[in-house]
Amino acid sequence: MSNQELFKKVLSHAKEYGFVFPSSEIYDGLSAVYDYGQQGVALKKNLRDYWWKAMVQLNDNIVGLDAAILMHPTTWKASGHVDAFNDPLIDNKDSKKRYRADVLVEDYVGKLDTKIEKEVKKAAKRFGDAFDKEQFISTNPRVVGYKEKGDAILKRLGKSLEKEDLADVKALIEELEIVCPVSGSKNWTEVKQFNLMFGTKLGASAESATELYLRPETAQGIFVNFLNVQKTGRMKLPFGIAQTGKAFRNEIVARQFIFRMREFEQMEMQFFISPGTQKEWYAYWKETRLKWHHSLGLGTDNYRFHDHEKLAHYADAACDIEFRFPFGFKELEGIHSRTDFDLSSHEEYSGKKLQYFDPERQENYVPYVLETSIGLDRLFLAVFSNSLQEETLEDGSSRTVLRLPAVVAPTKVAVLPLVKKDGLPDIAKSFVEELKWDMTVAYDEKDAVGRRYRRQDALGTPFCITVDHQTLEDQTVTLRHRDSMEQERLTLAQAKAQINEAVSFQNWLRAL
Ligand code: ATP
Repeated sequence: MSNQELFKKVLSHAKEYGFVFPSSEIYDGLSAVYDYGQQGVALKKNLRDYWWKAMVQLNDNIVGLDAAILMHPTTWKASGHVDAFNDPLIDNKDSKKRYRADVLVEDYVGKLDTKIEKEVKKAAKRFGDAFDKEQFISTNPRVVGYKEKGDAILKRLGKSLEKEDLADVKALIEELEIVCPVSGSKNWTEVKQFNLMFGTKLGASAESATELYLRPETAQGIFVNFLNVQKTGRMKLPFGIAQTGKAFRNEIVARQFIFRMREFEQMEMQFFISPGTQKEWYAYWKETRLKWHHSLGLGTDNYRFHDHEKLAHYADAACDIEFRFPFGFKELEGIHSRTDFDLSSHEEYSGKKLQYFDPERQENYVPYVLETSIGLDRLFLAVFSNSLQEETLEDGSSRTVLRLPAVVAPTKVAVLPLVKKDGLPDIAKSFVEELKWDMTVAYDEKDAVGRRYRRQDALGTPFCITVDHQTLEDQTVTLRHRDSMEQERLTLAQAKAQINEAVSFQNWLRAL
């Protein structure tokens, strides 16, 4: 499958099997807003739990929080979002389509990366076992040329954005001869800034209502509660506060399915540290977060770091963990060294001290902050698209299988009576009753068993238990494995133990 075909398949599969639906679809949907169906909500919850357990349960110095979506409007002045939460936009005069200027340039560089990958693949084929990828990348003139060109473009883009030199961003788009993907023309407007926050009103009458914003990130709920948590939890630095929840951005270029949405969910952790230790903690969290991603088993080659050239107004170092989505490497998670920007700014705007008394240093100070911030929907897309595979079997037939990591699969096991008679459904149902206290179980008796297996494969269910006539005699069942399609004869207790082992958080996270 080409990447484009895969992405199309991801969209249709997500809908057909109840993972993701367009929002308010009966009214033709709402652009870049999606609903999670019966399967999707379970996968999303399991991914959220996987993050939460690794972050909060396994770290005795990280606690949780659930702050409100609506916050005092001054929050967003202090955070810089009122003044600085802007995207540079450019319109194509022919197609009338609007784009993020920085994304157009980054996509151009992405194409250079694809060219590099193609060269590497070709060379790997040519040289066989003797191929040294590192050496090839650093010496092959064509690859070096692409790399240097890409780096120079990103550097210039970073500088122009930092200086808010929008004319130069436009000049760059013109020099690179970037065309509108829809009209194919280079007929661009000037680049303009656009604020991404959704406004709303609090209060009954139009005159007395207060202007509010729907939060564009969950982080600020953590900062304004810093002292509440620190004091009531008797927390000592370094410690972290973790939160998951909805965030809203009026994204102009809302594309690529659930990759860029207007309403999405973030999983953020703000780690409070003493000033001067930020470099160590930045390195620590980069490594820890990458390991966490790797623990999901989607392939270590599919992740890479991207260090930011252009730093946000609050950061002294920042990088993204990028994932190989079907449309190329893109940001999945951000790791930011936020200094004392947020807490100091909230001190200034609120007039309240947000300081920590360090018993060892015997002094008060505003802590520094290290942030890890991941989009749950993007994580969903990463896991879902990576897991969706079309396989040709030995007998020449094909199957669609969603190889979800078993730990996050919506349903862990499906119990299937081989036939709908001879008392098999009753036994199968009694097994469901027994198993459902420990794991998510589905029951299915419709169609031939082969078709039911295929359906569970497509839903990502890692195991099926089949009840047949032998079960009547000796209480054994068949345990079928989704990935290998192997089947084994076991007692129900043995099958249950095997499934529990395969889906245990501990076993998946032990790699950390
Ligand atoms: P991008 O450059 O892709 O717009 P960002 O740098 O603005 O992302 P952050 O503000 O660092 O993103 O947000 C942290 C995380 O939240 C991102 O890594 C991403 O996973 C997620 N995220 C941000 N915007 C969206 C969105 N519109 N839809 C879905 N997830 C998002």
